[in-house]
Formats: sequence, C-alpha cells, structure tokens
Amino acid sequence: KASGRSTYRFYQTEMRLEAERRHQLTLELREALQNDEFELHYQPIIRLDGDALSGFEALIRWRHPKRGLIAPAEFIPVAEETGMIVPIGDWVLREACRTAMEWPEHLKVAINLSVYQFRHASLLATVVSALSETGLCPGRLEIEVTESILLSEVEQSLSLLRALKELGIRIAIDDFGTGYSSLSYLRSFSFDKIKLDRSFVAGMDADPGNLAIVRAVVGIASGFNAVTLAEGIETEAQLAKLRAEGYHEVQGFLLGRPMSREDALARILSEARPARLMRA
Ligand code: C2E
Ligand code: MG
Ligand code: MG
Ligand code: MG
Repeated sequence: KASGRSTYRFYQTEMRLEAERRHQLTLELREALQNDEFELHYQPIIRLDGDALSGFEALIRWRHPKRGLIAPAEFIPVAEETGMIVPIGDWVLREACRTAMEWPEHLKVAINLSVYQFRHASLLATVVSALSETGLCPGRLEIEVTESILLSEVEQSLSLLRALKELGIRIAIDDFGTGYSSLSYLRSFSFDKIKLDRSFVAGMDADPGNLAIVRAVVGIASGFNAVTLAEGIETEAQLAKLRAEGYHEVQGFLLGRPMSREDALARILSEARPARLMRA
C-alpha cells in the first residue's frame, strides 16, 4: 500500500516535470521564431535527363545563439509535440517561397510538411496566402509528406492533399519505403513524385534486396505516372546505377550538400554558365 502511494507520487512528479519541460521548450521555440533564429538551407535536386538543376529542397536549421546550428531531428519532434510546428511550418513555407522568387522561373522549391500540419484545416489558407503574398507560381512549389500522413485522419489529409494539388502544387512522398503503411494508399491519391529513401541507395551494393526495391519503385511510379527521385547519392557508382535504373532525379551529398540561400544562388549562377559541370 505504502509503495503504491509513493509510486503514485513518483508519477505525479514525473508528469509535472514533463509538463514543465514541454512548456519550457514551447517558450524556447516561440522565442527562436521571434528572434529569427531559424534558417533554411537548400539542397540541389538534379534532373538526370540533361543533368540540369531542377530545383532545391528547403531544409530547416536552428541557429541557436549558444548551442550553434541545430539539426531538424533535434527540434522538429519537439515542435510537433508542442504544436509549435504550425507557426514554424508557416515561416518555412513563406521563406522558401520568397527565396524561390529570386531564382530563374524553371527552378522549383520543395518543402517538408509535417503530418501535424495536416491536422489543422488552416494549412490550405496558409499555403494560399504564402503564394499570393510572395507571388510564387504554385507549379514551382512542391510539398513533401511522408507515408505516415495516411495512417490516421485519412479523410482530412486526403482532402487537404487534393485541394493543394488543385492549386497546381506538386505533392511528393518522402522517405518512400520506410513507413508502415500499405501500398494501397497509392491508389487513393495520385502523388506527383516518389522520393526513394536513402537507406535503399546506401544498401544497394551490400544487399541485393535493396536493389530489388530500388527497381520496384521505378515500376510502381511509372504505373502511377509519378516522377522518381533517389535520395542520399554519395558516390559516382550510386549515381551511375540509379541513372541506369531509370530514375528521373537525384539528390545527395555527391550532387550538393544543403547550403545557405547565398550559396544556392551562386550555384544557380554557376550552372547557368555555358560550360556547365554537373558538380560545382
Ligand atoms: P528529409 O526531408 O528526408 O531530408 C533529407 C535529409 O537527408 C536532410 O537531413 C539532408 O541533409 C540529408 N541528406 C541529403 N543528402 C544526403 C546524403 O547524400 N547522405 C546523407 N547521409 N544524408 C543526406 P536534414 O536536413 O537533417 O533533415 C532531416 C529531416 O528533417 C528531413 O528529412 C525532414 O524530414 C525533416 N525536416 C527538415 N526540414 C524540415 C521542415 O522545414 N519542416 C519539417 N516538418 N520537417 C523538416
Ligand atoms: Mg524531404
Ligand atoms: Mg527524404
Ligand atoms: Mg529522410
């Protein structure tokens, strides 16, 4: 009995500490947003047909005044847990659209949307106002979502995806092959692009199973008329292999690391020179 009571007290303390931690993190993230501490880095996406720049994926970082540059894996889950992902996601959207307006019109920008952003019906209005305020053509914006978006509240997610697509925005599935959903969800929405997760690219040589998946994705995508992109290309051998397998686009450290807005612009200018090399 006595031990039962102390266990109860223990849980109460734990819960209070957890609530305090979340509160503290919410304040920190809100302050970071107010102080303009977030930044987007841009990673090149290359079209293999012609080896030309197709656009960039915008990836968030937190330039913390004391802790330095913090990767999204360290704060996006917290932002999702505290609801701060909504205002942070709005900032990402606007910032990415503003940046893409500095680029030549044939270049696209891809942003990552969290499944939590799809739980808010306000998402659509946010996207519409970001496009109209920045003047970016919807066809130049690509939204990346993971398979987890169709694991719960499927109807709301599907109707938001359809509404976004109707605006002319392209929708990509990110980290394809790593989620827990069944392939049947592919029939419920026509995704414009499938981004093969980098774990399959990394494991291509070591394990024939990975190569089988790399190939299967090309088959699936062609059946749905979707563009195929392979993530995480780090070696020339991987690049050659994915080219041979018929991937449309590639992305990875070999083609360019995520870079600042200024460096992305310099990359665009260097690619525009007549004697263009695939890597800057
Ligand atoms: P993701 O969307 O799949 O982005 C690709 C991640 O792989 C990026 O990590 C990128 O730096 C990394 N990467 C790219 N090429 C290579 C490569 O050749 N080798 C290796 N080892 N890694 C490579 P990053 O920037 O740390 O982002 C991690 C994840 O955080 C993203 O995965 C995405 O899910 C999430 N994320 C990033 N920015 C945002 C954002 O603005 N909003 C939301 N909701 N999530 C974001
Ligand atoms: Mg992504
Ligand atoms: Mg990805
Ligand atoms: Mg990933």
